[in-house]
Amino acid sequence: MSSDRLKEAERVLTICNACRYCEGYCAVFPAMELRRTFTAGDLKYLSNLCHNCRDCYYACQYAPPHDFSLNFPRAMADLRMDTYSEFTWPRFLSGSFKGNGLAVFAISVMSIVAFAAISFASKGVTAIFGTHQGPNSFYRIVSYITMIWPFLLLAIFAIVSLWKGAQYFWQETVSNDKPLFDKKAHFQAIWDVLRLKYLDGGGHGCNFPDDRFSMIRRYLHHFVFYGFMLCLASTTVAAIYDHLFHIPAPYPFFSWPVMLGTIGGLALLVGTGGLLVLKFRMDRLPAADKAYGMDIGFISLLFTISLTGLVLLVFRETAAMGTLLIVHLGLVLAFFITIPYGKFVHALYRYTALVRYAQEQSEAE
Ligand code: SF4
Ligand code: SF4
Repeated sequence: MSSDRLKEAERVLTICNACRYCEGYCAVFPAMELRRTFTAGDLKYLSNLCHNCRDCYYACQYAPPHDFSLNFPRAMADLRMDTYSEFTWPRFLSGSFKGNGLAVFAISVMSIVAFAAISFASKGVTAIFGTHQGPNSFYRIVSYITMIWPFLLLAIFAIVSLWKGAQYFWQETVSNDKPLFDKKAHFQAIWDVLRLKYLDGGGHGCNFPDDRFSMIRRYLHHFVFYGFMLCLASTTVAAIYDHLFHIPAPYPFFSWPVMLGTIGGLALLVGTGGLLVLKFRMDRLPAADKAYGMDIGFISLLFTISLTGLVLLVFRETAAMGTLLIVHLGLVLAFFITIPYGKFVHALYRYTALVRYAQEQSEAE
């Protein structure tokens, strides 16, 4: 953790705590106002409450070129990036947030190559480029074991890693003995997440991609969030069909796994596509330099997963199915590998910060 970034975050928060002009925009300012001084833990907590809407940047009379050169979202974003590395488990992988976009790209390519190599070696060229229809046709390209075990083991590892990260976050940022398991605070945080409440900028939205208020970033996040949840539901239902009811994929279009996956995939495609456009057009000054590649890498990965999933659905009864399945599974594998070591963690720390925020606000009442 850079002491320069901690000092800069403390400097801007001290100025803002005297000014308080932006207190209606998000949760950061009410949380800041509960404090007169800021410990390192406070700064890390507040940096994860901020979601880089930029409202406080374009509203600020002390922003550059003022002598104070106050860039609140950037100070929070720089520090937030450091917390991702600091709370990584296992610790020796904390460097994975450097050059993260390139790493995600490289892992995606390697995962596709690995799936292709295993499929060609075990099933042969004729099977990969052949036409397959009916139950178990996916398993004629990728074996059952290859389709299940890597994902299951990586999912377990990701859950453990994220759980350790949440514990580190809590130990570092909560100075009293408040437990992480606080039912009331979790209910409040879940309700805030389901509405993406703080992306509404106090009713006007974010200043994204330029200095005008807009709800577009909030709506696109809704598409991504609910699209992702529907895809998760689709995979879960498909697993139940396959393992409990012994009904193997592929399923007809009017079945729960396919309907949920199609709606979720389309939502994810719209949400990630829109966010990519916003990222390319946005003002880079109120953002952390290090975050750009990580954000682009993560959003592009989700975009290509949803795109290849939908294309696979359309062409699953043609000779293109084998190639499409290998590419799609390779991308999904890359996603599973990078869950604890990429942009996905922002959801975890933002949620944990919202739990803390709900506790604090209830204590302050
Ligand atoms: S960002 Fe600027 S305007 Fe907003 S509270 Fe801080 S000092 Fe005041
Ligand atoms: S950038 Fe947005 S979320 Fe972050 S502190 Fe400013 S107003 Fe709050």
